[in-house]
Amino acid sequence: MNLIYDKTYDVIVVGAGHAGCEAALAAARMGAKTLLITIYVETIAQMSCNPAIGGLAKGNIVKDLDALGGEMAKNIDETGIQFKVLNKKKGPAVRSSRAQADKKLYRERMISVLMDQENLDVKQGVVTDIVVENDIVKGVVVDYGLYFKSDKVILTTGTFLNGLIHIGDKRYPAGRANEFASVDLAEALKRYFPLERLKTGTPARLDADTINFSVLEEQPGDNEPKMFSFESKGPKLPQVSCYITYTNEKTHSIINENMHRSPLYAGVIKGIGPRYCPSIEDKVKKFPDKSRHQIFLEPEGLDSREIYANGFSSSLPIDVQIAMYRSVKGLENVEFVRPAYAIEYDFVQPTNLYPTLETKKIKGLYFAGQINGTTGYEEAAGQGFVAAVNAVLSYDNKEFILGRDESYIGVMIDDLVTKGVDEPYRVFHSRSEYRLLLREDNAEFRLISKGYDLGLIRKSRYERFLREKEMFEKEMKRLDEIKVNPDKHNQDKLSKYNIKINNPVSLKELLRRPEVSYEIIKEFWGGVENERVAEQIEISVKYEGYIAKQMQEVERFRKIENVRIPDTLDFSKIKGLRREFIEKFERIKPKTLGQASRIPGVTPAAISLLHIYIEDEK
Ligand code: FAD
Repeated sequence: MNLIYDKTYDVIVVGAGHAGCEAALAAARMGAKTLLITIYVETIAQMSCNPAIGGLAKGNIVKDLDALGGEMAKNIDETGIQFKVLNKKKGPAVRSSRAQADKKLYRERMISVLMDQENLDVKQGVVTDIVVENDIVKGVVVDYGLYFKSDKVILTTGTFLNGLIHIGDKRYPAGRANEFASVDLAEALKRYFPLERLKTGTPARLDADTINFSVLEEQPGDNEPKMFSFESKGPKLPQVSCYITYTNEKTHSIINENMHRSPLYAGVIKGIGPRYCPSIEDKVKKFPDKSRHQIFLEPEGLDSREIYANGFSSSLPIDVQIAMYRSVKGLENVEFVRPAYAIEYDFVQPTNLYPTLETKKIKGLYFAGQINGTTGYEEAAGQGFVAAVNAVLSYDNKEFILGRDESYIGVMIDDLVTKGVDEPYRVFHSRSEYRLLLREDNAEFRLISKGYDLGLIRKSRYERFLREKEMFEKEMKRLDEIKVNPDKHNQDKLSKYNIKINNPVSLKELLRRPEVSYEIIKEFWGGVENERVAEQIEISVKYEGYIAKQMQEVERFRKIENVRIPDTLDFSKIKGLRREFIEKFERIKPKTLGQASRIPGVTPAAISLLHIYIEDEK
């Protein structure tokens, strides 16, 4: 018999990984009495794999979270030891920030933010069961026999559900190296949802003192580090370099000779792994013609001797791991601190969820993060935030759904709940139809009003943003209004940069030219000094045509996206709609006509029948 705890919570978050931290903070900051329960307090916000936040499209999620009032951006800004903008030479649509973290400080800062948060209790405990009455969640039970009551429960249990670690033929249950797996909770969930299996892996952590860095390619961060949060001023910690090395033919022959000992290739691992983050044995097998693969050696922290070998994940036995690592330049005498391993774990198909991340089966129960088949800290954080906001808003019968045209978080959740996953899902720029609109630089322009309305953005920050927005609008107008005549005075100015004009042109037209930067405009005709606004102006003008085209597409998209499908609609009553489509609609329960149209296999004719039916029923 479990003891009922003497305090009832508005929201309970289970698991304090990246999804759980954002979820707990968002709920508590919105004023909900929140409980965060996790297996081990010391590993809150643990980076299970690479010691880095951001990366292609992932960086966009971090910035979007910041604009909405999340914590991840500030946490990495405070604890980052190398900042880089990726794809700097490419267009703004595909630029993304990435930063190496001091892993220990990242955890410690997040723990203190959580501990200091009003409305939030943090407790250690293994949740073993969820309590459900009449398909409505009532709370959770922990291993030491307490029943915590709440009408809203968010599960963010990551790779822990029935986690099984593989190192060659050695196997042991764990949620992450040397941490308990969540076995009872997985069993409890099976009562309501079929669980499926996925796999991921991590490389060895190497002892820095045994690496010969002098023969390796150094990779420093950006000279002028750019922060994730729009509120951060600059890095707080000393900045360090990463190093690059490569596998070689010897490494590949060690791997090939021992391939039969890999649990992946021996058929022991059944779960599907992340195609975009393959193990070294996968890379060698799938790309036999490649004579080398790049390995990034990334420090795990300023005071840590551990080096993360990015690109070298493996499930091979330890003797093979040692031989293959030592075959690499610079690692000839390397010592392991921790071995590489693969992990299999259970997840729930996200098609069991509404776009609010509430389960369709159990009211008040939400899932966020790796439990939904995603991979990555940022993907988890984005979902944690959305689940928590919805859990809190649901008390007022309100919802918070980000559109595909508003954020990569919206793209990801729509993909998950509409299509499900057959391999670990990560975000990419290419997943978005409107990636020129979902840029990192304009995150506040897209999302800060939403964060402010939720009560997650301080008034002073919002007012600063409004001033910048006004500055932007005024400057865009001025650039349109000021005309530059091709007279001698102007020609002399422009000749400094080899710019020629034959007819009068507006400053905006001038700025649109590839050879003209906003800096040049400012030099001769003045302009905005605020760096953030200046960047917005430059990108908005240079890409105006493309942005306008995407906006038109968004308008078309919104026409069907805004057609809501009533929750009570009986799809079987739609005349002429094939059984196959009725079943798909009943399973996915799309919220809008747009979402219905993205269900794999659904035809325009089926959408048209559905649309007509909705209109007729109005
Ligand atoms: P996690 O960060 O896993 O956190 C889960 C939390 O839930 C933990 O705090 C845990 O203690 C808690 N918990 C679990 N069960 C219970 C319970 N019953 N009761 C209470 N608390 C519970 N991502 C990438 O992007 N690239 C990679 O290459 C990559 N490789 C990975 C390799 C390994 C070996 C692992 C383990 C993960 C890897 N990941 C990788 C995934 C990345 O770590 C996750 O996507 C991310 O951490 C998911 O965040 P989350 O919040 O969903 O879960």
